[in-house]
Amino acid sequence: LNNIAVLTSGGDAPGMNAAVRAVVRTGIYHQLNVFGVMYGYRGMLTNDIFQMESKSVANIIQRGGTILKTARCKEFYEYEGRKKAYENLKKHNIDGIVVIGGDGSFNGAQKFSQEFDIPCIGLPGTIDKDIAGTDSTIGFDTAVNTAIEAIDKIRDTADAHDRLFVIEVMGRDAGYIALHSGISTGAEHVLMPERKTEVNEIIEELQANERRKKLVNLIVVAEGDETGGANEVARRIKESCPQLDTRVTILGHIQRGGSPTCQDRILASRLGYAAVEALREGIHNVMIGVVNDKIQYTPLDKAVKAKQEIDPEWFKIVKILAS
Ligand code: ATP
Repeated sequence: LNNIAVLTSGGDAPGMNAAVRAVVRTGIYHQLNVFGVMYGYRGMLTNDIFQMESKSVANIIQRGGTILKTARCKEFYEYEGRKKAYENLKKHNIDGIVVIGGDGSFNGAQKFSQEFDIPCIGLPGTIDKDIAGTDSTIGFDTAVNTAIEAIDKIRDTADAHDRLFVIEVMGRDAGYIALHSGISTGAEHVLMPERKTEVNEIIEELQANERRKKLVNLIVVAEGDETGGANEVARRIKESCPQLDTRVTILGHIQRGGSPTCQDRILASRLGYAAVEALREGIHNVMIGVVNDKIQYTPLDKAVKAKQEIDPEWFKIVKILAS
């Protein structure tokens, strides 16, 4: 192993920079040449590849976003595109790649590593925490803390006006941001794609709550919940409970930004280091995660979106603690 490349792909997540830094510095420590690829797989196709030094990753551990930028790349779905990427990597004699991204990026890496003789290591970077083979993903902890901070602020104004707020958080396929931020802010209800929620039941409860003058009502909805998001939930509540002052807040992209939390920086640093060590040991085509605080390898084709069963006890906790 002499020359390795690192790239960030798919949706950005806070902590990606800390992971890039760890890959670069561990590589240089082992006297490898480390190349950065700009804009994910697109940079492989356009040969937007440059050699990095230790200094290239100075002062980024605390920064959100990704200095390598990220993109989605249609051509990489096709063999011809991947071949072009391979030819560009060969120009730099790259013999190992670290891809920081979500399951889509791992699919691409899996195909690429099967077709060409360049091993790939995947690191889970996504705010959604929905990837099999790891207890958390780079960016999740930061995103959920950003959501908590925002929801706490909404709680203040909800309290001042006795308003009901329906708050939408990110999570197209997974509701972990909703579940964690909902529990942490004392929400009455958490709606997420993994579990069907009857809005009618919420309405009945709201009517009962009103009789006992509950002051703050917060409902947290993951964007991918099948009721159709916060606007639709609020519309149905307004229809049945016109006496309630119901408002909607969609947190949106603030959840992707900001300085990564301690937990995300540590996860990113640990995974970035482990990626280079794995390549050096000849461990190929795996995603590296952390399970029960131990590094775990998962073959890239098994590192898929994990639509896990959510233990119903979580919803019991939400209900009991908000009652
Ligand atoms: P997130 O879930 O956070 O959005 P992701 O990595 O899943 O991140 P995708 O847009 O699914 O995001 O994938 C990123 C890129 O990986 C795609 O634009 C494409 O270049 C490549 N890719 C994804 N799936 C495949 C596939 N099946 N075959 C080849 N390349 C793929």
